[in-house]
Amino acid sequence: MTPPSAAAEARRHFAERFDAQPVGTWSAPGRANLIGEHTDYNDGFVLPFAIQHRTHVALGTRDDGVIRVASTFADDAVEVPLADLDAVFPDRREEIAEWARYPLGVAWALVPAAGPAARGLDLAFASNVPVGAGLSSSAAIEGAAASAIADTWGLDLDRVALARAGRRAENEAVGAPTGIMDQMASMLGRADAAIFLDCRSLEAQVVDLGFRAAGLELVVIDTGVSHSHATGGYGERRAACERGAAILAVPALRDVSVDDLARAETLMDDVTFRRVRHVVTENQRVRDTVRILAEQGPRAIGDLLLASHASMRDDFEISVPELDTAVDAAREAGALGARMTGGGFGGAAIALVPHDGVQRVTDAVTAAFEASGFAVPTIFTVTPSDGAARDA
Ligand code: ADP
Ligand code: MG
Repeated sequence: MTPPSAAAEARRHFAERFDAQPVGTWSAPGRANLIGEHTDYNDGFVLPFAIQHRTHVALGTRDDGVIRVASTFADDAVEVPLADLDAVFPDRREEIAEWARYPLGVAWALVPAAGPAARGLDLAFASNVPVGAGLSSSAAIEGAAASAIADTWGLDLDRVALARAGRRAENEAVGAPTGIMDQMASMLGRADAAIFLDCRSLEAQVVDLGFRAAGLELVVIDTGVSHSHATGGYGERRAACERGAAILAVPALRDVSVDDLARAETLMDDVTFRRVRHVVTENQRVRDTVRILAEQGPRAIGDLLLASHASMRDDFEISVPELDTAVDAAREAGALGARMTGGGFGGAAIALVPHDGVQRVTDAVTAAFEASGFAVPTIFTVTPSDGAARDA
């Protein structure tokens, strides 16, 4: 369950910063991705679920056309006249504190749909989503902002449109070239279910996970190794995927099947080929996971999770020793499957574990980290939960 304190904290923070009472509170969850990594920006398939950790926002309106944002994570509130957002984003985004670009970018993305209904706002955020752990605190703050702003401005936009506004904020206002998976999971999540998302059509299907009935827990092992989406390897992997698609003369790697791989190998250098092979086989693993969940239930998907991890470690090369250790130790201690999740180069791994094995896996991973001289990991379970909502 969400600790009620994050909602209360948002209200309290609002009162403290803005010396007023909010008109309402909204929240949106972070997400974990069960399987389907680096497939989203290749127009492929993903299977994320919303988690119980949420970002809450308390909102008030103001009559001067200014939007002001505050967060318990930040020392200072940031304010911009709504009329200036178009001048700030994307070209002058560096002038805005990075964290504030997420909610202000969402407002910027929603202004065109609002027209004259766009009025001034105060927003105060509080969150219990771990930042930079591969659980998408960014989608949570975007989803909370999008829901609150769209409701307050009376926008007739569905959840997919709000997810798109979040992605636009992240891509153009923040400058992080991410796909739309996180925002879709945060907007569309449902208890004990995942979202089978076609990232090309944005068609989303709610898929029962049945973890509860099967007595399974999803354990997150946050390595504490920090990653950055805005720089480094993530952009390089995206470029390799685009290169592979161009060589194969397809719009995106989504259009390449496992059967095409033998031919692909003859057409490109080894590194590009291995990047391509990860994406193509991962798309197939997502489809296989959905099928096996329906046919055999969640206890049968462990090997697909392990295969996904191996593919990211060996072909996509986005794992780090901490993530490999987490996966191996969890597996040896009785996890049915485990894999790194999120963009890579750090962040978290997930492990699918029978309820009565959680402590054993926790202890084994902790011991393995200690033996390797790694920092102490943060280990907790996540529960597939409902998506963004107005809370009060
Ligand atoms: P993650 O994997 O957690 O999504 P990102 O780097 O994509 O990592 O996004 C994390 C960033 O999002 C933070 O560094 C911060 O700028 C912003 N952010 C997330 N949650 C909050 C919050 N509650 N308040 C302020 N900023 C936040
Ligand atoms: Mg993020």
